Amino acid sequence: MGVSLIIAAGGSGKRFQKAQNRKGRLGKLFFSLGGKPLLRHTLDSFCSFPAIREILVAVPPGTEKWVKNHVLKGHLGPTVRLVRGGRSRAESVWNALRRSSPENPWVMVHDGARPFPPRKAVLTLLKKRGQADGFVLARPVVPTLKRVSPTSGRILGTVDRAHLFEAETPQLMSRASLMEAYRRHSRPFEATDEASLLEAMGKQVKVLKHSGWNGKITTPEDFHLAEAYYASGKAGRPVPSSMKMGFGRDTHRLVEGRRLYLGGVPIASPKGALGHSDGDALLHAISDAVLGAIGAGDIGEWFSDRDPRTKNIRSGKILKKVLEEARQRHWVPSHVDSCIVLERPRLGPCKRKIRRKVAGLLGLEETEVSIKAKTMEGLGPEGEGLAVTCEALVEMRREV
Ligand code: MG
Repeated sequence: MGVSLIIAAGGSGKRFQKAQNRKGRLGKLFFSLGGKPLLRHTLDSFCSFPAIREILVAVPPGTEKWVKNHVLKGHLGPTVRLVRGGRSRAESVWNALRRSSPENPWVMVHDGARPFPPRKAVLTLLKKRGQADGFVLARPVVPTLKRVSPTSGRILGTVDRAHLFEAETPQLMSRASLMEAYRRHSRPFEATDEASLLEAMGKQVKVLKHSGWNGKITTPEDFHLAEAYYASGKAGRPVPSSMKMGFGRDTHRLVEGRRLYLGGVPIASPKGALGHSDGDALLHAISDAVLGAIGAGDIGEWFSDRDPRTKNIRSGKILKKVLEEARQRHWVPSHVDSCIVLERPRLGPCKRKIRRKVAGLLGLEETEVSIKAKTMEGLGPEGEGLAVTCEALVEMRREV
């Protein structure tokens, strides 16, 4: 009794976009929550139910490539297929339903905007297969409800909430019933949930009562609530650290006829650093530290020293590219400590300038950047004036 899971993520989230003053096709489901798009959290909620054999996600037209790269990449669990979303939620579900495998006699539909359906309740829901035409995850209504006159605004009465439930998702139904309901209903695409289509056909649909949190993200306020829920660990997921450290180290040979750059600042020196780029060992060490923090390799992998296009490239550009990559992964630098090992010239007079320049490149206050200069007292390649070595430690913070 396999189950096809349909995730309705085809809406544009207009209310949310409006509140955020954002436009474009990437709506709320693609916002990062704790470093992952909201929709990915929803998908991850269903990755370990053996009964779910396939997942179909209805997404807004034009977002397929983005979803593949940013949401589906690395996803573990049943095969996921993308389906073009319709003009309404019910149309999106229909598009997915028609493409789902008829081998699965049950269909479960879930809102993409509910990232944390309670696992226990979903398990119970799946066990109900065969006991009715459909089941809906629902919560008893808690607020006091008033019936109000649409003209005068006067309260006409208090609604007895004893038997009222708020329908949520997932909703589970037999494939045959849902297909039939879509075909026979006069206006199926106007339905706000699948259960109502079955109800209209006189099918037996039951609620499965639960008391967990299964919030639907509609407004930016809901989003903040979901973030807090996630950060509290209540969603049953490991909460990722909001801070990371990265370390970088770089050495360049010193030769005559080259300029010496450190931290993007030209230093008056008879010798400069040999290199494919401008040889700025400090910016290379910092760039490597940033890449180290986000686990994205080293600058050698990002900038080949055989690429003629990067010949003599200013290292500020290397750092900029690396920071862009980190920002895309929602990490930004918050503090840097560094050490320049150079025998000559003495850097004392330049340290302030280097600090200011590095702070500017990283978008940090000067107080969050430390530049230390050391000599090797004549020992080793640095001490003999043959090389410059830099080390950097970078602290990165998650930016959601
Ligand atoms: Mg280097």
